[in-house]
Amino acid sequence: MKRLRDVDPEIAEAIHLETERQADGLELIASENFVSEAVMEAAGSAMTNKYAEGYPGRRYYGGCEFVDRAEALAIERAKALFGAAHVNVQPHSGTQANMAVYFSVLQPGDTIMGLNLAHGGHLTHGSPVNFSGRFFRVIPYGVHPETEQIDFAQVERLAREHRPKMIVVGGSAYPRTLDFATFKEIAAAVGAILMADIAHPAGLIAAKLHPSPIPYAEFVTTTTHKTLRGPRGGMVMCQEEYAAVLNKNLFPGFQGGPLMHIIAAKAVAFKEALSDEFRAYQRQIQLNAVALAEELGALGFRLVAGGTDTHLMLVDLRPKRLTGKVAETALEKAGITVNKNAIPFDPEKPAVTSGIRIGTPAVTTRGMREEEMRLIGQLIAEVLQDATDEARQRRVRDKVRELCQQFPLYTERLRP
Ligand SMILES: *Cc1c(COP(=O)(O)O)cnc(C)c1O
Repeated sequence: MKRLRDVDPEIAEAIHLETERQADGLELIASENFVSEAVMEAAGSAMTNKYAEGYPGRRYYGGCEFVDRAEALAIERAKALFGAAHVNVQPHSGTQANMAVYFSVLQPGDTIMGLNLAHGGHLTHGSPVNFSGRFFRVIPYGVHPETEQIDFAQVERLAREHRPKMIVVGGSAYPRTLDFATFKEIAAAVGAILMADIAHPAGLIAAKLHPSPIPYAEFVTTTTHKTLRGPRGGMVMCQEEYAAVLNKNLFPGFQGGPLMHIIAAKAVAFKEALSDEFRAYQRQIQLNAVALAEELGALGFRLVAGGTDTHLMLVDLRPKRLTGKVAETALEKAGITVNKNAIPFDPEKPAVTSGIRIGTPAVTTRGMREEEMRLIGQLIAEVLQDATDEARQRRVRDKVRELCQQFPLYTERLRP
């Protein structure tokens, strides 16, 4: 067998360095995680070779016996995990999952409501730079200026005024519990379809540590690679009456052949997610988020919405006279990866921002617990005490490397 390092040393080196980067630094990006070696093995398997347009048992190609088995298992396990009536595991990404749902029940020009991107929403919930903002008439709702939590009085007022065909609930930087039941009441009162996008809290929902939207939302979309800790990809769950229209809109509507190696890897991740071990992991993610938020609070940082119920928090850096951009860069030099993020009512531009978003799923996968979270909080504070001090960044970099060595990531086999 010709190994990657012999065939293409340049790519082998890029992969090697990226694997080292993941192992040697503190990954605090809230949307990232580390898949198991079993998930990675499935993702790197011969199923990448197979064309399987269509759905299990109804394909446009021969030779689908075994990929059918993998997709059927993925569907069955996703149904068990979330209690969904119908599941489509083929979306290549969260964005394509949302796209398929919109075009299953909306026409271009229809009105949708979604959480304002600047208040923690997602691009695909109606941002003008995204297809969702270009095809639909978007009425954004936001958080209340005082509580920094979803302003239901505003959601209700806007829904009554604009009569949207769909209300989207979910976000990428919303640290508090999503109240799907209240969204359903508002949607039902104006005859709107409810779509819940659980890309971020999917793992917590699977572990029953966050309320589930399944009883309330006609459609539930998710990514599989965030808290859920599967391969990069998307998924749609829906009520039985929408099953046929959804399947048709995803394929042939928006996608061609499904990524069967990724679907096999999704099945593996869902099997893992059905275990008690996974539930304990999700619980630890939450405990770690609370521990880190408390430590940062004690060190003088202000947390948006007063803290977190989930796996992520949003830190307002204005009291420290820093921008998100400066903080992200300084922390990166110290081996701590976060992303700059707008806070609600942010006076800074989106490329600068006043905040950073921090999440605990990836460091929790490595086995870190509350004690390490307190240390990480102190390391963040140490760097940000003087974001221009490079000697300080190097000092913290060494401490980060030392901490990471105590929690190893991946074996030699996965390091080309
Ligand atoms: C991450 C995310 C998505 C999109 O996922 P991609 O796989 O990057 O397309 C959609 N919705 C929400 C709320 C997200 O956080």
